[in-house]
Amino acid sequence: MSGSERPHVALVTGAGRPGGIGRAIAERLLADGCTVVMSDLGARMPDNPDYEVPSASELDRTIDELGELGPVTGIRCDVRDEAEVDAMIASVVAEHGRLDVLVNNAGVGGGLGEVVDMSLADWQLNLDVMATGVFLCSRAAARHFVERGAGGRIITIASQAGKSGMPLLAAYSAAKFAAIGLTQSLAHELGPHGITVNAVCPGTIDTPLLDLPGGLMEVYARRFGMEKERYRSRVTKAIPLGRFGQPDEIASCVSWLASEDAAFVTGAAINVTGGQEMH
Ligand code: NAP
Repeated sequence: MSGSERPHVALVTGAGRPGGIGRAIAERLLADGCTVVMSDLGARMPDNPDYEVPSASELDRTIDELGELGPVTGIRCDVRDEAEVDAMIASVVAEHGRLDVLVNNAGVGGGLGEVVDMSLADWQLNLDVMATGVFLCSRAAARHFVERGAGGRIITIASQAGKSGMPLLAAYSAAKFAAIGLTQSLAHELGPHGITVNAVCPGTIDTPLLDLPGGLMEVYARRFGMEKERYRSRVTKAIPLGRFGQPDEIASCVSWLASEDAAFVTGAAINVTGGQEMH
């Protein structure tokens, strides 16, 4: 089947990191028959030189690996940059003739700590990537969807931290609450155009984000004065299903939201947490 015959063109942001949720989503959407464009940062952020970024070639390697599954291409884009985001959506439309599904997946895991110790830069980075970035990508996609008049899907990877605040996660949590609020407002505004807007709220998912230096596992383990492995097993016990989730379990939910089966679902923020979050 050629790209143009495939039912949907889908764009997944933050999809280049091996082992990440974005890659799993891209893989699943390809298996569903979509044409997929994967986007990622792929370079150090000049204003955050300490933020760990895999080499730029990793997005290319991921695209090579997934190329066996179907038509997939990549675009480097910093979701915080208005001009880059608008150019990314324009280039998808120029290359494929349309965009049908936007998956806002890009996220950062740094800047963890007590609010009293938090720098403005750490606060800002979380809000810029996971609130403003979602706004910019959703706005650009929505403009295309409305102009084209054939509906569309916006799916944002939020978090259980977007439903309940947690210690040491204030900036991350605030950004994810913002993403869910944006999802609900957009669902109202875009419903009349046949566009659905939903969020997926992962719980604790086994990805590199958790284990980055200075990342969630390390910071929480230190806070509770225990080894990382002991802290992991404590978290596991707090999950009713008794394990961490896997990236492909988030991808399944995205696949369903992108499908015709979910045509009447909008404004939802769906927990995929093994029961760790229930509201
Ligand atoms: P990940 O592997 O680190 O993926 C995050 C991706 O976002 C990376 O590829 C990263 O690019 C990219 N990114 C960061 N800043 C960006 C920017 N300014 N512009 C464009 N891309 C940017 O982490 P993940 O665990 O798969 O997370 C994916 C999403 O799920 C995130 O939104 C995260 O908040 C959410 N989530 C994860 C969990 C979990 O337990 N893992 C739980 C709840 C929610 P680089 O690789 O180039 O740095």
